[in-house]
Amino acid sequence: MTPYQTTNYFLEQGFEILKLDPRYKTLLVTPSRELRVELVIENDDGSIGNYIGYRVQHDNSRGPFKGGLRYHPEVDIDEVRSLASLMTWKTALIGVPYGGAKGGIQVDPYKLSQRELERLTRRFTDQIAEFIGPETDIPAPDMNTNGRVMSWIFDQYSRRYGFNPGVVTGKPVDLHGSLGREAATGRGCLFAIREVLNAAGKNVSGSTFVVQGFGNVGSFFCRLAHEVGAKITAVSDVRGGIQNTNGLDIPKLVEHVQKTGSVVEFPGSEPISNADLLTAPCDVLVPAALGHVLTSDNASKVNAKYILEAANGPCTAEADDIFNQRGIVCIPDIFANAGGVTVSYFEWVQNTQHLKWTEDEVNRRLEEHMVSAHKALAKAMASYGDCSMRAAAFALAIQRVKEATDMRGLG
Ligand code: NAD
Repeated sequence: MTPYQTTNYFLEQGFEILKLDPRYKTLLVTPSRELRVELVIENDDGSIGNYIGYRVQHDNSRGPFKGGLRYHPEVDIDEVRSLASLMTWKTALIGVPYGGAKGGIQVDPYKLSQRELERLTRRFTDQIAEFIGPETDIPAPDMNTNGRVMSWIFDQYSRRYGFNPGVVTGKPVDLHGSLGREAATGRGCLFAIREVLNAAGKNVSGSTFVVQGFGNVGSFFCRLAHEVGAKITAVSDVRGGIQNTNGLDIPKLVEHVQKTGSVVEFPGSEPISNADLLTAPCDVLVPAALGHVLTSDNASKVNAKYILEAANGPCTAEADDIFNQRGIVCIPDIFANAGGVTVSYFEWVQNTQHLKWTEDEVNRRLEEHMVSAHKALAKAMASYGDCSMRAAAFALAIQRVKEATDMRGLG
């Protein structure tokens, strides 16, 4: 199944629980708008580069379209469509007043200079400018994009429409960003697993974690989990993995990554391949990099009790079925990594009100959102009967989007 088919497979489980009139499926599944743009830029050496960019706006019945922007060579329309749909359900589940969208450019950003990346980002902004805006569609960082990229979008958009910091979130703190946004997704993941473990009479402290991906989400998750006593026994990035069954010294690892650009060859660790890392023994496996890394090929070998979906769409439908049969609890992406969009919402609220919250205020409100989403999810699971956490999460989110759609009417 493709990523979009996988998302729809999971959505179908939510529809089945709710026993909704079939007309809602067409209504709620179909994306609202899909943009495909050609991005022709001049390279530093005078040659011409041509890239394809996408923005898919899935649903805006609960508020403006909202979702990240990814730079990756494997970006395609199916993946962006899937990620846009996931955003609709994520914003509904976590209770922020947005719909769902996603964007991407098919590019290997490591092959471009900073100037080329800037030209590419500004060209993309120009091509989609009339379809985005603080009350319309608000991009944010995702894989291989960051505060720098968001600043270029903010600047390019503002050249056309005037000062508009709320057009993107995930901006640097000194350029209308929010304190706490950079760590928000990792912090939210920690709140999610803490609530799930506590409900089962367990604790983060003393539990063992294996984490794939040491970028924004993975590295902040590891830092914060380590601070509260979690034992992180293996981590990886695109260049390879490392392990230490006694637990890695995360603050030292962060310094090592800052110096060398990768987790590999961290003193006091053994190498482990990305494939072996996913089946290494642990309490909680945390995929925090790409989609579809847990498949029918490796799901039966996964040696964890919980899977915390820090990445978007890390499990294929087949893998998810295997985990359900094996009693491995998957904490679905639309709940697990919703901390990012939650603090993006806080950033947008601060931008629109010209206010600045303290980091404590941001983190406190983030915790409230994650805890109350978990409570609603646990209640839904109890009322829906025998279903996975993912199916319950989709059902709850569908219910909320359906209600907004019903109230607004079809026109
Ligand atoms: P990032 O670019 O900061 O980091 C990605 C990490 O994954 C890097 O360490 C990279 O080396 C690693 N990686 C890439 N390819 C890999 C491979 N083949 N094997 C192992 N590791 C690999 O990206 P991010 O923002 O941390 O996003 C990671 C995931 O989290 C994505 O699925 C993204 O959609 C999701 N997510 C991000 C946010 C956010 O706020 N940034 C919010 C919600 C969800």
